[in-house]
Amino acid sequence: VDRLDADVHADVAIVGGGIAGITTAFFTLRNTEHSVVLLEADKIAHGATGHNAGQLTSYFERPLYDLVAEFGLQRAIEAQRNVESGWTLLDQILAETQLQTPVYRFTGYAGLSTLEQLVEHLKNNRCRLEGGLNARVIMVAEEWEGRNHIPVEYLDLITVTPHSDVLSLLETSNQGFIACISAEKGCMNSALFSEELAGYLLSTYKDRFSLYEESPVQSVNLTQTNAELRVAAHAVTATKVVLCTNGFENFTIENKEGPAIDTKFHHAIAGRIGYMSGYLEPLNHPPTAISYYSEPKEKTNDPAGEQYFYLTRRPYEHDAKDPHNLICAGGPEKVLPNGAEYSREDYCQEDMRSRIDEFLRDNYGKHPSNETAYAFCWHGLMGYTPNRVRRIGPEPCNPTLLYNIGCNGVGILPSIFGGLRISHFVRGDSVEPSIFDPDDQRCELPQS
Ligand SMILES: Cc1cc2nc3c(=O)[nH]c(=O)nc-3n(C[C@H](O)[C@H](O)[C@H](O)COP(=O)(O)OP(=O)(O)OC[C@H]3O[C@@H](n4cnc5c(N)ncnc54)[C@H](O)[C@@H]3O)c2cc1C
Repeated sequence: VDRLDADVHADVAIVGGGIAGITTAFFTLRNTEHSVVLLEADKIAHGATGHNAGQLTSYFERPLYDLVAEFGLQRAIEAQRNVESGWTLLDQILAETQLQTPVYRFTGYAGLSTLEQLVEHLKNNRCRLEGGLNARVIMVAEEWEGRNHIPVEYLDLITVTPHSDVLSLLETSNQGFIACISAEKGCMNSALFSEELAGYLLSTYKDRFSLYEESPVQSVNLTQTNAELRVAAHAVTATKVVLCTNGFENFTIENKEGPAIDTKFHHAIAGRIGYMSGYLEPLNHPPTAISYYSEPKEKTNDPAGEQYFYLTRRPYEHDAKDPHNLICAGGPEKVLPNGAEYSREDYCQEDMRSRIDEFLRDNYGKHPSNETAYAFCWHGLMGYTPNRVRRIGPEPCNPTLLYNIGCNGVGILPSIFGGLRISHFVRGDSVEPSIFDPDDQRCELPQS
């Protein structure tokens, strides 16, 4: 670990060394001549990037049709395309850097159990088609009586198939799942990827890149052309500062030119703690990612409530001599009350582990139902912006400051796309407006 032990200057200061910060550094170094300093409070990839399910997926945490209603078809579809571009960007990074972190790509599945869930996804599919994207394949069980109630305008979007096929794709024997969506998915250890990419940047851009771990930023002072960051006794100056902190940062922002940003910023992200468990099994099934939307046990208004669970299965790369699969499963979440402290070090809660175990036993057909020893149980913090859309771009009240934050539960591919988009802003390109742009009614960014 290299801690900041002197004052430094760089063209661009990036705060936060998760996948968002590291890929922002990658694209900034690659696409500009600027120097970059990356400041991480803890160690690279020890935040959400080191506590997720490793699922590569490209959906929003809001139904696409809902984004279309708010932003219009064209902008919502463009944003969907942007997130999907994360696949190609990831391939590009891997090809250029020759990183060794394994990436598995496959078709993954999501199981549905109610007509309401099905109609939601059919509406999304209609938007995809109308916007010129390919439609997701949605298979509906032939034997399901509710099939007669599917609105006629969506019948062209489903494929009717034997119930046994739906269950087999979902690797479940729970007859409650009546439909199944397939989509491009993948698995990757995003922490290992970020650590490796940090190593690549340090060796490739020796004269332009520096990285300091265990160097928490305590304040950010902004003028129209400069930023000064305090890290203990030292100052970091830069012409641009990019916050990749996932929304939880413990610093103050002072805007010396323009309206205050600090309070707005600190209220912009709400925290949710996501819980996961993982166990090892023999390496006898291919990698996969499956989500399960079960019928709610009781009516709840919480869309991220308990009825949603997901799992990933991939080879566990830490025991090359005795290869195993690692099954990671999650779903249960808790809201982090406003102003409450979250500690990464807190123990995993036993009731969360039991809930995940119970869900797997009831639903995942390959679960070894007897007493399963969970090798891992963990939690991580997800940051939700008020509109559940990631924020990528300059702060309207002072464009010296930029953001690539607000991970939500789907953040790996969006962070990578965010890194590329930030590099365009930093390079001074004319960047098309998008739904990811931070907004503030008090200030409007000059049109580039
Ligand atoms: C339980 C769980 C499961 C998930 N599953 C998936 C999944 O399967 N697929 C998917 O795509 N996404 C998933 N996510 C979301 C994904 O992990 C995140 O979107 C992604 O890792 C966010 O990366 P980040 O770099 O923005 O944030 P982080 O990885 O949290 O990095 C932010 C960094 O900023 C640092 N920092 C904060 N304050 C300061 C400061 N003052 N000074 C310096 N540094 C600071 C932190 O220490 C941290 O390292 C999951 C998240 C959780 C919690």
